Amino acid sequence: MALHQLPELPYAYGALEPYYDEQTVRLHHDVHHKAYVDGLNNAEAKLAEAREKGDFALIKHWERELAFHGSGHILHTLFWQNMSPDGGGPPVGKVAKEIDRCFGSFESFKKQFSAAAVAVEGSGWAVLCYNPGFQKLEILTAEKHQNLTQWGVVPLLTVDVWEHAYYLKYQNRRAAYVENWWNLVNWEDVNARLDTIGV
Ligand code: MN
Repeated sequence: MALHQLPELPYAYGALEPYYDEQTVRLHHDVHHKAYVDGLNNAEAKLAEAREKGDFALIKHWERELAFHGSGHILHTLFWQNMSPDGGGPPVGKVAKEIDRCFGSFESFKKQFSAAAVAVEGSGWAVLCYNPGFQKLEILTAEKHQNLTQWGVVPLLTVDVWEHAYYLKYQNRRAAYVENWWNLVNWEDVNARLDTIGV
């Protein structure tokens, strides 16, 4: 697997002045975003090492690191590409129509998006998303982006490990439930999901 790379900014460091200052862009991209890329590569390397050794003693730690740095890399890449020195103003084209359809008007969308962004507690994000399942745009926020795993992924296969999913039969023996669940996996369904995203 190739290592993740810090993407170049699609404009000069000072190109977003006066709205976004050069010094902040430099630090934010070269230091903060780079730390996510390095952290993601490290988490993937440690997980590969764990698979080789068959030693998953630190799995919780590395899964958290994978989600934290993976989402950080994905969201920062989106953030840089979402801005342009020639940006601003009202939306045009498809997104303008979808915003009108889903939020009533650009003005009401903008108010909701700004309110959501300002209200995020601590560090986080406001994100305009398209939910293919619901076939609509949504404004979502992330207070801790690692809690939402890697933004942008397409779920393919899931096991429900909430206690309600197994407690009647397995009580506290979650590992036995998970082991038996493997006998039920519908790989044709997983393949069909891969087909829909063109993998
Ligand atoms: Mn940031």
